[in-house]
Amino acid sequence: MIAYNLEMIKKELPSGVKLVAVSKFHPLEAILEAYNEGQRAFGENRPQEFARKAVQLPQDIEWHFIGHLQTNKLKLVLPYASLVESVDTLHLLEAINTWGEKNEKVTDILLEVHIGAEETKQGFTPSEVKAVLKMTGEFPYVRFRGLMGMASHTDDEEAVTNDFSVIKTLFDECREMYPHLNGFDQLSTGMSGDWRIAVRNGSTEVRIGTAIFGNRQY
Ligand SMILES: *Cc1c(COP(=O)(O)O)cnc(C)c1O
Repeated sequence: MIAYNLEMIKKELPSGVKLVAVSKFHPLEAILEAYNEGQRAFGENRPQEFARKAVQLPQDIEWHFIGHLQTNKLKLVLPYASLVESVDTLHLLEAINTWGEKNEKVTDILLEVHIGAEETKQGFTPSEVKAVLKMTGEFPYVRFRGLMGMASHTDDEEAVTNDFSVIKTLFDECREMYPHLNGFDQLSTGMSGDWRIAVRNGSTEVRIGTAIFGNRQY
């Protein structure tokens, strides 16, 4: 079923849009099944589970951390993360930079944007995002790669479209305001229920869990 689901999604996904398979709460075997179909980018949202899977699974997997990250958990995540998509406070940004200085690793990150979807309280407001991007020089061990956002959890397609287009507009404005930010080119929007709408609204990366792996286990 995993192989079939992946194939169907990949068939429909434009070639320029990256697929991150969100494997949280799914066992190693499920990840390996996707891996054997050629999938290499996986997303996890809990530091302990992230570290355990990263250590046990093939080393050419590209791990994305997509959950809330407390600064006392950085050592579980940063050694393995290709991209931390959920940077939601200045405090976390500073801690990632400090960790990077000590461990001589530059971490690629996305700033998580909060655009009024009531379900998540996490993320920077659009004006905070712009203020943070003014300060990137203070974080030499952080590479700012783009934005991550979630739409309101609703069947109202118009509301979801509006959320994604707000994030897309912010993304374009940031790129225009800060052209020196090399590699600020990733817009991570869209999950199982709304990725098609996200793709129509400029997504460069979708994070899909349930539609690949089924309902989450354990
Ligand atoms: C769990 C999760 C996803 C995937 O959700 P599905 O609805 O299962 O596709 C995507 N993004 C984030 C941040 C998540 O926590």
